[in-house]
This record gives sequence, C-alpha cells and structure tokens, in this order.
Amino acid sequence: MLSGFVAFVTLTAADPRRIYTSLPVAQGLWTVNEHPHYTRMAYNSPPMTLILLQNANLFAPQKRGICSVLVGGGKVLAIAPEGESLGLSGVPVELLDLEGARLIPGFVDCHAHITGGGGEDGASTKVPAPLLRHFTTAGVTSVVGLLGTDDVTRATAELLASSRSLRESGISAWCWTGGYHLPPKTLTGTLRGDIVHLDSVIGAGEIALSDHRSSQPTLEDLLKAAGDCHVGGLIARKAGVLHLHLGDGERGLELVRAALDTSEIPARVFHPTHINRRTILFEEALELAERGCHVDLTAFPVAENEDGFSAEQGLQRYLESGLPPERISVSSDGGGCLPVFDMDGRMTDMGVGTSASLPETLAKACELGIPLESALPAFTSNIANHLRLSGKGRVAEGCDADLLILSSKGKVDSVMAHGRWMVREGTCLEVGVT
Ligand SMILES: [Zn+2]
Repeated sequence: MLSGFVAFVTLTAADPRRIYTSLPVAQGLWTVNEHPHYTRMAYNSPPMTLILLQNANLFAPQKRGICSVLVGGGKVLAIAPEGESLGLSGVPVELLDLEGARLIPGFVDCHAHITGGGGEDGASTKVPAPLLRHFTTAGVTSVVGLLGTDDVTRATAELLASSRSLRESGISAWCWTGGYHLPPKTLTGTLRGDIVHLDSVIGAGEIALSDHRSSQPTLEDLLKAAGDCHVGGLIARKAGVLHLHLGDGERGLELVRAALDTSEIPARVFHPTHINRRTILFEEALELAERGCHVDLTAFPVAENEDGFSAEQGLQRYLESGLPPERISVSSDGGGCLPVFDMDGRMTDMGVGTSASLPETLAKACELGIPLESALPAFTSNIANHLRLSGKGRVAEGCDADLLILSSKGKVDSVMAHGRWMVREGTCLEVGVT
C-alpha cells in the first residue's frame, strides 16, 4: 500500500543530537554538552522535516476525498484536494505516496488506566501500567489517564507522572483527578484546586456510581464534585468535566438525573461512561444525551449471554436514535482490569483492557454498515471537542499532526504523533521505556 519514502532533500539530520544542537538556547533548552540525557530530550522535539502525504483518502473525520497533506513542525500545515498544487516547488520535502489509503485523525482515548488498574482481589491482581507502544500501535495519539477502584495504593502524583512520561515519549496525555471514591483523592486537597493548578488535569473521574465498589455517594456528594469540576474548569479554561464510572447496579443513572433536576450545573459537566454494559443503562444514557450530556461507550468485550452490548452496537444504536451525533464517544478502559464478581462481591475472574479495542471497534462499526465518516467522530473529534483538547481529533490546517493510516482491512498501519512517526507499516518505531 505504501510506496515508501522518496527523499529529495531533507532538513533533518539523521542523528537526533545534531538536531538538538541546532535548537536555539534562547528557547530555554539545554545544550548537548550541558545535559546528560540530551538524546531523550531531542527525542521529544518535533521533526524538522517537511513531510508530504500524497494520495491520502482523507477522513478528517469528515470525508474529504483524495488529498495531499503537508506536515511540518509537528503540525498539519496545509491540505490540498487532488489536482491542486501546494506550491512547494523548490522546497525540500519528504514525499510519501499513500496510494489511496485512508488517513484519519489519531484516536483520542478518554479513559485509560495509564498507571495500571485492578487490584480488586489483592495486590497480586494489580495490573501493570501500559507501555507507550500499547497506545501507539492502537492508533491512540491522545489519552486521558485515571485511577479506578484502587485510589489507595495508587496516587494522583503517580498519575501525573505517568501522563508526563507519555508526553515526553511523544504522544499527548491528560488526567482525570480523583478515582472511584468521594471524598476524592487529590493532590492539592480539592478537585477544584487540582483542575486549576495542575496543567494536565482537565476534570475529575472516574467517580463510581451504582457499583458495589463505589463510596455510595449521595446526591449532595455528587453535586459538590460536579460543582467543583464546573468552577475549576471555568477558572482554568478547561473542560471541567466529571467523568462517571457506571456499574451494574439497579440505580443506574438516577443520581445524575436528580442532579440535573435539582441544580444549576450544566448537563455537559456530567460524563457517564460504560453505558453499554446494560441495556437499561444505555436507554437511560440516551435520555441524558437528549438533556445535553455527552455519553461514553466502553470498547470492552461482551459475552453473548450478557445484558449489555458491544461498543460498535452501542454506537450504531446511538447514531440511529437521532440524538446529536457529537454527544457520543468510545473509550478503551486500557490498562484497567475487567473483573467478574459473584453475588457476594468477590472477584471470580478478570481480564485486562487495552486500547487495541478502539481500532477493532471502529472496524466492526464499519462492518455493521456505519460509514467511516459517521463512526469516526466518536473516536476523535467528539471527545476532543467535549474535553477542549485544542488541536486534537481532527486533520485540519493548524492542528497537531496526529495521524493514523489504516490498512485496506481497517487495521492500524502507520501512526504519527506531533509529526513524528511512532508506527510505520505495523512496526513500532518509538518504543519508550520497555
Ligand atoms: Zn470504570
């Protein structure tokens, strides 16, 4: 599918240290000789090469047809439809002919346990943190990390460090502060303080509702947390969203309905996830979407005898419901454990979530007959817009060059983050710490 590079003249030195030495000291960066870890710092700087992706079948996520996409300095610099020139004559550029392969935005995964999750049957069941390649090979270029049930032995500081680690390694990362429980685990003492003072914190989550593992929050507890998110978001110009884990419990989304009925907090603040785990929960979520909430499907496996349904089925049902198509998203629960409990609340089995479920779900959604341009926003622009992740979730001039090339079978072929190739033709180029 890919014809490979046709290198004319490039601006990039092969040795990253040489690129690094050329960066101005005025930018506040170390020089090669001053810092012992210079190669790793250079590793995170955007490539200086101009790259022209030709004959891309672009879904941005809207269908754009065959286009050329020019990338440089970590950004999408220009897009030209087939037959139109970008006027690059004489400019050194790397050419890559996609030969009609589909080019889409990198996935935005709003729910991943970047420190690892689990631990619900003792410490030996804690799930290790996912590696960089678990995200990049799944096409994820932006991720929002969080703590779950175990917000006791796992800490907010660890979560922040994990998001910094992913950023240093080349992809984009943010956090939900807190965990399953209220009062929440925070770094500054309040949800509002964490959202205002900590750059990577965009809201709180995953606060658990209708689950035996929750802190059994009252309406008052929920309103206080949601109010903190809303006001923190206003002060810090962030999303200020309360990301809500929904369990299997009969109470479903009743607390969220009560919150909307009895408070002034905007519906967009309440962001329930795992809504496809039960049919009735999904129906409740549709009602909330009608009232202005953004709702999130989880791409976890669903057994045939379960009452819930898969994320692709949920997406199809949502899109057919006629509700605003921008209020739905799909996340992975990557790094989290997928536990099974008995009637006594004891864990009897567990799996491990992975971001690889996102491209699989997208491919299955297309197999169900959903056009790619209709399915794709739920994995990209919808959640980027809702969470105010500027420059993410779209392929457009000025946006970050977070790009994903799909194979003819809908698998992840190549992934670029901030203009840097992370995966090429199925091979992981940037492995991070392994
Ligand atoms: Zn959850």
